[in-house]
Amino acid sequence: MSAKTKKKRVGFDLDGVIIGKPFFVPEFVMEKLVRKKGRRLAYRYPESKTERAIRKISHIPVFRPPIKKNVSVIRKLHKSRRYQLFVVSSRYSFLEQRTEQWFKYHKLKMFFKDIYINLADEQPHLYKEKMVKTLKLDIFIDDDLRLLKYLRRKIKNVDFLYVKDYKKNNNMPK
Ligand SMILES: [Mg+2]
Repeated sequence: MSAKTKKKRVGFDLDGVIIGKPFFVPEFVMEKLVRKKGRRLAYRYPESKTERAIRKISHIPVFRPPIKKNVSVIRKLHKSRRYQLFVVSSRYSFLEQRTEQWFKYHKLKMFFKDIYINLADEQPHLYKEKMVKTLKLDIFIDDDLRLLKYLRRKIKNVDFLYVKDYKKNNNMPK
């Protein structure tokens, strides 16, 4: 395959990009659940069994609808055959089964070459930094602006798109 026709490798975050937030948990609670306090970029791991159990319940596929407009973009990119699509999510290992269930339930697995989650429970920004490099992605799309700013500082020659950017400016990869 010549360089000209080489497929672009596009990575998608999962929650907030492909999967909607559950409708019964307000935004500020979600933020509190996942992010540590303070200015430094750091994420919490739910240490207690109870909290992990609650999170597992909230991740039952029927509570987490796909984000339709983004899924339709993914369908189009897949159909064009000019892209290889990946999911790179920092979901912790206790959500592995839920993630598989979600893709099965919503029948969206076939659009992606591979789906990766954070099975070693690393800090999300470090995990994503590693995966963007390992998978040699050209584009990575996420809804976490602080994380994207971190990645932009660390990795050059990759387009890091904020999910709200393309809602507003329609600057999806062409
Ligand atoms: Mg996200």
